Amino acid sequence: MDVKLTKEELARYKRQLIMPSIGKEGQKKLKKARVFIAGFGGLGSISSQYLVAAGIGSIKIIDKDVVDISNLNRQIIHWTQDIGKQKAQSGLYKLKNLNPNCNIETITAELNETNAFELIGNVSVIVDATDNIKTRKILNKVSVAKSIPFIYGGVDGFSGMVTTFLPPKTPCFDCIFPRDVKKKGLIGVIGPSPGIVGTIQAMETIKIILGIDGTLQGRLLYFSGTDMVFRELSIEKNPDCSTCGHR
Ligand SMILES: [Zn+2]
Repeated sequence: MDVKLTKEELARYKRQLIMPSIGKEGQKKLKKARVFIAGFGGLGSISSQYLVAAGIGSIKIIDKDVVDISNLNRQIIHWTQDIGKQKAQSGLYKLKNLNPNCNIETITAELNETNAFELIGNVSVIVDATDNIKTRKILNKVSVAKSIPFIYGGVDGFSGMVTTFLPPKTPCFDCIFPRDVKKKGLIGVIGPSPGIVGTIQAMETIKIILGIDGTLQGRLLYFSGTDMVFRELSIEKNPDCSTCGHR
């Protein structure tokens, strides 16, 4: 199915349309793309805004929570006036105003083993904007089963990490985090940490949709904001992985 770019879209995306690696063809790819974002907190606040601004055609975001005053130091799509509102409602309003061309659906629900496959559907990319291993493992299952690229991100204090899983080619989440790590209670987070990770997740998503190589596949990128050092760890498939292994 071919899509057309309107006059308004040609004006809106001018600065990316003039990039040789994007152009009109790339912009049409973005318009045809569908992205699922799990979580509308610190990471989802950032990736959703960049993806909507870039002209992704359809975005679906799920979050079960309401906005709490303690979210506002980092979840910058939610404002003081939104305290007590569902995050799905609060975020939807901002995104729709940011770019009315995007088809944005936000859902107030908890992702679980039962609803995940249907809720995620057939998307181009799954973005992990959750804060827990349990949901990441569910997202990973869908990613591996349907061969959907999955962009993992996590933050802690001044630090964060991010990688891109491209099943069946690359390791999956369970290859590198096989155990069900117990949540260590409330962790501290300074806003720029999810800002950096969410931004990298949006960049990875856009590159995958455009077919640009050089993603974080096979590489776990870690940064320490206190020393402002970025390091990367090469990651490999685990043949005994319970989700993607063949043994
Ligand atoms: Zn695996």
